[in-house]
Amino acid sequence: MRKKIVAGNWKMNKDFKDAEALLYDISDLLAEKNQQGMEVIVCPPAVFLELAVDIAYEEQFHVGAQNVNQNEYGAFTGEISAPMLKSLEVDYCLVGHSERRKYFSETDALLAEKILLLLKWEITPVFCCGEVLAQRKKREHFNIVKKQLSEAVFHLDKENFSRLVIAYEPVWAIGTGENATPEQAQEMHAFIRELIAKQYDRDIAEEISILYGGSCNSKNAVGIFSKPDVDGGLIGGASLEAEEFVKVVCSYPT
Ligand code: PEP
Repeated sequence: MRKKIVAGNWKMNKDFKDAEALLYDISDLLAEKNQQGMEVIVCPPAVFLELAVDIAYEEQFHVGAQNVNQNEYGAFTGEISAPMLKSLEVDYCLVGHSERRKYFSETDALLAEKILLLLKWEITPVFCCGEVLAQRKKREHFNIVKKQLSEAVFHLDKENFSRLVIAYEPVWAIGTGENATPEQAQEMHAFIRELIAKQYDRDIAEEISILYGGSCNSKNAVGIFSKPDVDGGLIGGASLEAEEFVKVVCSYPT
């Protein structure tokens, strides 16, 4: 049975006091709702990771980083390494979010390096892929996602590949209020699963969790999560408020 996951990406939001309050609220609400079988991940800015791990000690949620450097240590001022994340007991790390691809020029070759390092340090990479609007309009979206997977993760051996989580995030849906329809999400998730089956085997394809991300919120999550190849969501804006985020978590059919 593949894991059902809802992950919140706070991006560059919240100060210390607000972050602390939000983490406690999420923890309390999750304890109250007791949504069995769901893995909840919170990805706050790096400066709040330690706080998040402390507040998550009762295991209502896991903690993920939003980024990691591709080097293990050294003279890279301002950067954060996989061993540092590991020392804080961070379990997950986003890799290849479209904002990092766009604003920090991250390529799939670079993402491949980050993924290897995370796997070495036993932190689960959440690999983000997805097309921009112009590519979808030209019907190139399947090829774009295939290329991203080929260049960033398909070099991994079976054992390592099976440790990934994948997030399909059409860039045109991120932060725009325009989510993919459940059918569009299902179509791409099924395509990704088929690629994995071809590259590895059917068992691995069936075991990998593929999340949907892009303007997913408590109003549209039920429809998107009802699709058979959607194993949860990567949530940006709607993860910044506890009740809304936990409503999204509870949108998964139990
Ligand atoms: C994201 O940042 O990964 C994301 C999906 O953002 P939003 O939900 O705000 O579109």
